[in-house]
Amino acid sequence: MKNLLEDLIALQQVELEIFKAEEGLRELPKNIEEIESIIQARKRSLDAIDEEIASYEQRKEPLEAELKENQAILDAADARIKRIKTNKEFLALQREIDLAKKRKADLEEQILSIMERIEKKSMERERIRESFNADRAVLEERKAKVEQQIRELEAVLADYRGKDKALREGVDPSLLSRYDRIKNSKKGLAVVACVDGVCRGCHMHIQPQLFNELVRGDKLITCPSCQRILYAETLDDHEDH
Ligand SMILES: [Zn+2]
Repeated sequence: MKNLLEDLIALQQVELEIFKAEEGLRELPKNIEEIESIIQARKRSLDAIDEEIASYEQRKEPLEAELKENQAILDAADARIKRIKTNKEFLALQREIDLAKKRKADLEEQILSIMERIEKKSMERERIRESFNADRAVLEERKAKVEQQIRELEAVLADYRGKDKALREGVDPSLLSRYDRIKNSKKGLAVVACVDGVCRGCHMHIQPQLFNELVRGDKLITCPSCQRILYAETLDDHEDH
């Protein structure tokens, strides 16, 4: 029984590493996706504010062009007013000047209000950019760490793959099928030590009588609480590991 279990324990060690590596390789890419989606969301909020600023600039352009034209009208009227002969012409021109001045004040007010909004948005953009840069460094570092973990797990897999097949061939078939059944329901851990009467799988005590049987080692004992296959280990044995 003891030798049979030794082969099984060796097999489990390999398969547990493979199991953990495969599980990690399924889960870790999700962490990377999450980090990337955070970075993308932050980028989008910067892009959105850039678009807002650009749309304000667009609204400002025609107003500035009109202000320039308006100034040209005022300059021309100023030049003309000195050469005016009749009161009627003077009044007409004066009315034109008044209108242009009113429009000028109106345009200047609109442009100023847009510039204030652009300034406010630019400050907001700067704040977002600064916090993004700080967070981004943290996120990139976290991502690099996860990528490193993935590479390590891939190396473990490359190392262990194939070894399990050779080990399987050495294990008694009926024991193997029992092991496989337990393994699938216990996340890969089907054979555990029982140290001084305590199952290392579920940390429950087994009955002293059962432990004595286990120590004798002449039959297969499973834990009554978690159903894992047990092998005996005294505390001294255990500390050696
Ligand atoms: Zn147990």
